[in-house]
Amino acid sequence: HARQSGKNTLDYFSTDNAKSVQRKWQLEQSLANAVKVNNFELHYQPIFDVNTHQTKGAEALIRWPVGKIPPDRFIPIAEQAGLMPSIGIWVLESALNQLKLWQHQSSNFQYITVNVSIAQLKDNGFIDSVSKLIKQTPIKQGSVILELTESIMATTSTDIIEKLHTLKRMGFLIAIDDFGVGYSSLNYLKHLPVDIIKIDKSFLAGVPKDNANRLICDAIINMARALNMNIVAEGIETPEQLAWLVEEGVTTAQGFYFAKPLPVDAFEYFLPVTSQ
Ligand code: C2E
Ligand code: MG
Ligand code: MG
Ligand code: MG
Repeated sequence: HARQSGKNTLDYFSTDNAKSVQRKWQLEQSLANAVKVNNFELHYQPIFDVNTHQTKGAEALIRWPVGKIPPDRFIPIAEQAGLMPSIGIWVLESALNQLKLWQHQSSNFQYITVNVSIAQLKDNGFIDSVSKLIKQTPIKQGSVILELTESIMATTSTDIIEKLHTLKRMGFLIAIDDFGVGYSSLNYLKHLPVDIIKIDKSFLAGVPKDNANRLICDAIINMARALNMNIVAEGIETPEQLAWLVEEGVTTAQGFYFAKPLPVDAFEYFLPVTSQ
């Protein structure tokens, strides 16, 4: 009996697997093709000053127009397929060129942030390609912020720490994205050159009414200040959240309340005005 049910189970899973393996393979193929023909776009979400409501900078967010599959879904597949180093360098190059244009259009436009995945940081060619890129498109110190998630910190090796320091010497700033949802030890904050903490939007939900969330945000804000790190609040959707940030003295935020991620032409309405 055991053998028979074992076999049935195996059959069941192999059919099921075959379908999902095939679907994943198809996705990998079209992603690989998209990489070849550069069939991605970047959208930009304004990062704004909560007191003046002026745009300070922008987060670059990748879009794959074909099929409208969200990045949360295709990036893990790209990572597994070994495509992330090429996608990542395309993202950085495009964002650097965009930054140049926007800084030219508005002297008050300060920075661009770019998400970097663990697969990129682990890749042996990463530092070299970045270094080539900034020779071609030099960056002002602090005008490009690299966003890393906590999972990167959990796997901290001396190699990764060394790479982060190299990136800092090149003029990049380092932000921890989605802070608080990575379930990692806070120990890494002592050892890594972190400049900015982005509080995950799940903690800002319902703030200030939601007591638990408000207390967690308070704790994160106090910790960041004690460690001399800047704070960005993510996922601000309501005037109540915004008012609370102002009260707390948090100056920088992003979220649908101000603007969604936008294609380049629409973003330009949000470029900060310059006094002349
Ligand atoms: P993330 O870096 O934490 O980006 C913020 C995500 O939250 C974006 O989703 C953005 O559209 C969304 N968001 C912003 N404001 C609000 C808000 O007020 N409410 C809600 N509910 N959502 C808000 P998106 O663009 O779908 O990106 C999802 C994730 O995919 C990103 O999370 C990032 O981890 C990853 N990703 C996106 N672009 C890239 C990229 O170029 N490279 C890498 N490695 N990862 C990327
Ligand atoms: Mg991000
Ligand atoms: Mg985030
Ligand atoms: Mg996220």
